[in-house]
Amino acid sequence: MNENLINKAAEIIVSSNYIVSFSGAGISTESGIADFRGKDGLWSRYDPSIYASYQYFQRDPSKFWQMHRELEDIVEDADPNPAHYGIAELEKMGKLKAVITQNIDMLHQRAGSGVHGAKIYELHGSYGMYECINCGEEFDIDEVDTKNVRYPVCECSGYIKPKVVLFGESLPYGVLEGAIRECQKADCLIMVGSSLLISPANFLPSVAKEYGATIIFINRENTIMDELADIFLKGKAGDIFTELMESVKDLV
Ligand code: NAD
Repeated sequence: MNENLINKAAEIIVSSNYIVSFSGAGISTESGIADFRGKDGLWSRYDPSIYASYQYFQRDPSKFWQMHRELEDIVEDADPNPAHYGIAELEKMGKLKAVITQNIDMLHQRAGSGVHGAKIYELHGSYGMYECINCGEEFDIDEVDTKNVRYPVCECSGYIKPKVVLFGESLPYGVLEGAIRECQKADCLIMVGSSLLISPANFLPSVAKEYGATIIFINRENTIMDELADIFLKGKAGDIFTELMESVKDLV
C-alpha cells in the first residue's frame, strides 16, 4: 500500500474527533466469511431471489434455512481480523463514536466495539437472535433447534426466522434513522468493504459527505461511489488496518 496515502489517512484520523465506521461484507472476508457477490460468495450457489427473499420465506422457509445453517456454521467459526480490531482500537482512543454495519456476523462486538461507548447500528440485523414472523416472540439462538428440522416453527405455528433483514423486508425500526444522525455528526467516515450496491444503506457515506465529513474508503476494488472518497485505500482491509493503526500510533 502507498505509504503516503496511509500516512495521510492516519493524519485525518488523528485530527478527527467524531469518526464513524461503515462496514460491509468485505471487512469479514479475511475472517473466513465470504461476501455475497464475490466469486466464491454465497450468491454464486444460492439464488438470492429464492434463498434470501422474505416473500419466498413466507411461502416456504426451507430454502432460506438450507443457506442460513451453512452461514451460521461459518460465522460461529470466524474470528475478528485486524480491521475489526482497528475500529475497536479507534473507539478506545476516544476517536470513533459509532459503528454502522451491514453485516450480521457480530465480529465488531467480538473485537471490542461498543465497550468504550460507541453505538453499534446493525442495519441488516444480527445472527444472534431469532423471532417468530407470526406472533413476534423472540428466542435466543440456543433456544431453537434449527439443525434437526427442515425449518423451525413457533408454538403458534408461525415460521421462525433469524433477526436478519431479507430482501423485501424493512430495516429494523429506528436503526437507519440513528445511523443517519451519526453520519450527520461525523467529522470522518471510514467505509470498509462494501460494494455500496445495497440501498438504503449505501447512501450513508453521501450523508456524511454532505454534512462535512472527510471520507476514507477501504476496499479491495472500486465502488460505484468512489467520487465521494477523499482518500481511497485500495487493498485487503485487514492488511490496510494493520499499517494504518501503526501510522496512527506513531502520530499520537
Ligand atoms: P458485497 O458483497 O456487496 O460487497 C463486498 C465488497 O467488499 C466488495 O466491493 C469487495 O470487493 C470488497 N471486499 C471483499 N473482501 C475484501 C477485503 N478483504 N478487503 C477489502 N474489501 C473487500 O457486500 P455489502 O456491500 O456488505 O452487501 C452485501 C449484503 O450482504 C450486506 O447487506 C450484508 O448484510 C450481507 N452479508 C453479510 C455478511 C456478514 O455478515 N459477514 C456476509 C455476506 C453478506
